[in-house]
Amino acid sequence: MNPITPTTEQQQILDLGFDTIRISAGAGTGKTTTVAMIIANLVTNHGIDPEHILGITFTNKAASELADRVRSYLGASVDPGREVEVHTYHGFAGQILNEFGLLAGLDRRPEVITPTFARQILGEALYNANLEHVDITWSGRINRIKHLGDRLGDHLLEPGDLLTSLHSGEDPWPERLEMLQTLDTYQKTKRELSVVDYSDLITLSTNLVRGSDEIAGTIRERYRIVVLDEYQDTNPAQRILLATIFGDGFPVVAVGDADQTIYEWRGASAENFDRFVLHFSRPDGSEPHTRELTGNYRSGQRILDVANEIRKEANPDASDLSSPNRTDGTIETHWAEDAMAEAEWIARRFEKLHDDGASWSDMAVLFRKNRDFPLIVETMSRHNIPIEVANLGGLFSVPEVAELRAWLTLLARPESAPATLQILFGSRYRLGLADIAPVSRWIARTIDKYRDEQLPMSLIEGIEHLDEIEDLRPAAIERLRHFLGVYLELLVEVQGASLVETARLILDRTRAWADVESLPPVQRLTARLNLYRFLDLTEDWSPLRGRSSLPAFLDYIEAMEEEPAEELDAARLSGEDAVTLVTVHRAKGLEWEIVAIPAVTKGGFPGRSQMYPDPDTKADILPIQFRVDDRYSDMPADPKARTEYLRTENLMQEWRVAYVAATRAKSHLMVSGAHWYGHPETNQNPKEPSPLFNLIRDHANSTDTGFAAVPPRPEILRFEDDSFAPDPLFESGWIAALADEIEDPTGVAAIAERLGIESAHTKETDMWSQRLFDLPEELNVEEKRDDLTVSVTALVTYAGCPKQFYWSEVDRLPRRRNPAAVAGTEVHRRIELIQKGNIPFEEISQEIYDVPDTDTGPGAYKTFLDSRFGENRAARVEAPFTLSIDDRFTIRGRIDAIYANDGALEVVDFKSGRPSEDPARIVQLEAYAVACDDIDFEVGDVTTMKVTFAYLGGGLTEETYEVDAGWLAGARAHLEELGAGILEERFDPMPSDRCRRCDFLQFCEAGLAFVGAE
Ligand code: SF4
Repeated sequence: MNPITPTTEQQQILDLGFDTIRISAGAGTGKTTTVAMIIANLVTNHGIDPEHILGITFTNKAASELADRVRSYLGASVDPGREVEVHTYHGFAGQILNEFGLLAGLDRRPEVITPTFARQILGEALYNANLEHVDITWSGRINRIKHLGDRLGDHLLEPGDLLTSLHSGEDPWPERLEMLQTLDTYQKTKRELSVVDYSDLITLSTNLVRGSDEIAGTIRERYRIVVLDEYQDTNPAQRILLATIFGDGFPVVAVGDADQTIYEWRGASAENFDRFVLHFSRPDGSEPHTRELTGNYRSGQRILDVANEIRKEANPDASDLSSPNRTDGTIETHWAEDAMAEAEWIARRFEKLHDDGASWSDMAVLFRKNRDFPLIVETMSRHNIPIEVANLGGLFSVPEVAELRAWLTLLARPESAPATLQILFGSRYRLGLADIAPVSRWIARTIDKYRDEQLPMSLIEGIEHLDEIEDLRPAAIERLRHFLGVYLELLVEVQGASLVETARLILDRTRAWADVESLPPVQRLTARLNLYRFLDLTEDWSPLRGRSSLPAFLDYIEAMEEEPAEELDAARLSGEDAVTLVTVHRAKGLEWEIVAIPAVTKGGFPGRSQMYPDPDTKADILPIQFRVDDRYSDMPADPKARTEYLRTENLMQEWRVAYVAATRAKSHLMVSGAHWYGHPETNQNPKEPSPLFNLIRDHANSTDTGFAAVPPRPEILRFEDDSFAPDPLFESGWIAALADEIEDPTGVAAIAERLGIESAHTKETDMWSQRLFDLPEELNVEEKRDDLTVSVTALVTYAGCPKQFYWSEVDRLPRRRNPAAVAGTEVHRRIELIQKGNIPFEEISQEIYDVPDTDTGPGAYKTFLDSRFGENRAARVEAPFTLSIDDRFTIRGRIDAIYANDGALEVVDFKSGRPSEDPARIVQLEAYAVACDDIDFEVGDVTTMKVTFAYLGGGLTEETYEVDAGWLAGARAHLEELGAGILEERFDPMPSDRCRRCDFLQFCEAGLAFVGAE
């Protein structure tokens, strides 16, 4: 069974067998492995059926990782298809509602809204409310009301519970009551829309099980034991739900690490883990066992020594983590003059480590605050280091994305001066304040002249009157004219365009892709990765109500930026070779060889809270008497003592965040800070090292690589602008400049002469010539293909266009990430989970929940659920196969679902989109049919077979073929013919409608001719 031998600590836990246990698992101690071992041990050595074990964790990512791990441990010891049930906490609650909600008069399958949609509904409630005490002009108002609403949910309360309660009526109650009334409206709107939020899932399901012993009993009887992962992050409501069903002696294993509780601000209760022994009991009624894991398999011991010290700041009684097999680990600290110098230090160290053999994806910069992203993004880009920004907040600071967002804003809100200036000051137009000042002066004068009319005038209206404006530089006039031309052109073109089309049109008309292409390879990768991420966002987004509109999308991303809950899930990385930039909170659960933590300044990290969550002074904090746990019950009444108490609580949490950050590094930890911050304008006073920085710098294992003296305050922290395009010398862009130079090789030399920089020009061109001469000769070795394995997808591509196959599989060219494919993968994953008996839930995208969209029909997943495929259970799901067509040609693939009914086999491929006309698609079904004929999928004797495409986009469409002997022979011959074509290297272009979606169209002559001819 277990592919890994348990450690002594793990074995001691396994020896406890079928019992109630709390396991304290320090960072990197192999928590998931241990949980999987426990489950496998229960099945193999205690005779518990896998389907009688329930696993619950926080995110879908963690749930699928756990399910995979258990599957690999159980291996062949259980029959295929017999699986442990693994849910997320919200998914488990959702399943209870799905199953028993009708009994309580609830919708059977309520639609779940994301926090960002919740904020939009709240915004509407706020807009319509008549408020006296809530400051509706403050940008954080919705956050505060939502915060109060979420905390009510954490403690199973409704707004009405507080509205009707006895209270002093003194501050902050007047404001709190108005917030509660707004939340009451929010609740009503959700009911009208038949949607629920995450809090509702837990509250409603808890009410169900608390109100009916029968329901709780029915759920309990399904399982023999429950394993709770990341238990330290649960809130009181989740604990009550679980204890109502599984308290009272039912075997429960809870795994977590109280020292990694970093989500108390969103309702996690550290008390749940601490008091597990009081909330749950062993089958004989006695107190649960408690065990600890301290063997760390991630980091070198020298890093663990430092992490142990940090952990003790939050919890002096914590046990030390130790590495069983690594004594290594490098820890470096650095204190720079200013934030720019600090960013330079990180970039240079990364370059050196990369030169020494580390890949970029081995490295990460972990930020405590979003505000520290931009300077590091800029510095990495100046050093040609590819980066992937994994936080949405950070993503908007990537210049290409920020500029695209500014254009979107300008199209929706022409009066937006910040968006106009962002574009004009950006790398394309590179104007300065002095260039805009005459326009502003003209506007001021004009408004003055027509004062009576009180007409406001936007910057862009001013730019429309360039002829009337004096004192403008000729170059500025030219660029402003160009900007206006692009803007007016876009205004016309985006009429009726979808959101993603609008974004693409902007990128096209502003020649952004050409600029990206002209960047050096590394910066190009960075720009592309992050632009694609943003385009995915525009494509995935749909509004909760009404049509998808640009202003609504801009509101949405603004709300998303302010919504920390969107950042709860661990970051999902593309896997490209790029340095990850991410906040510490989103880095939980991830690891890298090399981790840099910048801005470790006093008040920065550990962070100092601006406002302590004092329920006696803050309206959005739930008063202690309404909490269902005892957390904060020892909070002093005296205001001063209370502030001190809350300060200490905040500090402890910050040390826990620091512990999480330090334990992400496997072999190299870099910690830094600087005297001067503030981007672009510098703070008034220099920063000092924080206690965290000092602790690490003073540790015997760390190396101090420099501590700069305090320099005079720099006025501004900004790199000299040396953006790549357009260049004042080559305003038509690099590509055109290159074409001109090829035409007339003296052109650039003449410019150099005019500028008096001939010798620098000669030196540079000589150096590059030499580099070109030094390039190795291209090896002319003929590649012989004598055997071949291709995926089904690749084979479909070959059948559609051999040239496209060549560029995607043989001489691979970069391809754009396909958002539709990503969404499709997600739908497939959900179908797989539900077919295996689990109800998956996703915390990120509303698309995943199939929020009703009246314009496009029901979502793919809902279509699946309502179809005959959703109603029946498939015999095999996601069944992998390797099919040998002949000695030289093999096809690999994975069949979505095989339904078997008394020998009648139906092989189904689910498509999340709408029906396709592409003739090549049939190859997929041909491969599946031949695979089912050749391979035993253990679905019993087959008497008849049919193959089906089930298109789930815009409602169900089925395309089915009966597979008889003739169909099968034709399919086999077709596959052989395609394999022979690839082996004989026949890669001629085959233009067709697919050219329009082809990533290679721009440089495929045949494709361009086809599209042009049409
Ligand atoms: S553009 Fe058309 S012909 Fe060219 S590779 Fe793509 S699909 Fe084939």
